Amino acid sequence: MTWNWTLLRAGEFWLDAGAMFGIIPKPVWQRWLTPDDANRMPLQQNSLLLEKDGKLVVIETGIGDKFGDKERRIYNLEDRAIHDALHEVDCAPQDVDAVILTHLHFDHAGGLTRRSANEDDRPDPTFPNAEIIVQRREWEDAIANRSTMHKTYLPNHLTPEIAERVRLVDGAEEVLDGVSVWPVPGHTWGQQAVRFNDDSGNTVVFVPDVMPTRFHVTPTACMAYDVETWTSQQERIQLLAQAADADWLLVLVHEHGEARVRVRPNPDKPGAHMLIDA
Ligand SMILES: [Zn+2]
Repeated sequence: MTWNWTLLRAGEFWLDAGAMFGIIPKPVWQRWLTPDDANRMPLQQNSLLLEKDGKLVVIETGIGDKFGDKERRIYNLEDRAIHDALHEVDCAPQDVDAVILTHLHFDHAGGLTRRSANEDDRPDPTFPNAEIIVQRREWEDAIANRSTMHKTYLPNHLTPEIAERVRLVDGAEEVLDGVSVWPVPGHTWGQQAVRFNDDSGNTVVFVPDVMPTRFHVTPTACMAYDVETWTSQQERIQLLAQAADADWLLVLVHEHGEARVRVRPNPDKPGAHMLIDA
């Protein structure tokens, strides 16, 4: 089965650029972008909406709307969330049948829940009728809070109501008709990428934090948040080679500019790759 799809922008946020580029020194990454006064760089929460024959699938849910003023300041978070992006394309979150998450860090899975109308209550599920598809390894690590950051698997997006709706996947699998996932470990052990064919003949791959922005096409550009830097780098190199060979259309989860790219051999650097607009 092929799918129609729409790129959703669930909101801008800013993270420390040094952390985003790991071992790459500032004089190098500063040639790529100019950070703000707090040394941060702008990112986007990119998500996809897939549709076919009335079936609706969301890939990735962004941060959501539950952060208070302090976090909003830290991340310079835009006042916008996945449900706003869906409403703009006339999609009601309660009509979504399935949500696929690459991993469960707050900037990917926070949008699973939203602020309750009564602020004292537990947050409400954003997608009350959707099954939530995630790798078993990721779910177990999230519940046990195994992460280099202690505040990224947040209990307010991994509530009992969400746990009830989760479908756990072990490794590579076709999880929905024509939609496959496969593990891309390194950023987390249980991270997965998502692939499907669209109605225009493209093989589309939603790329998680194995290559979050166009700047991360450099193999050594691992984030300080990765649980395994070496693994992340090897997975990225492999993904780039596959994407170039098969001419995949990639969507990069945190790219602030044009997030739809294709991969080509880099003519200036034998063995390396470059990205072009898709
Ligand atoms: Zn992320």
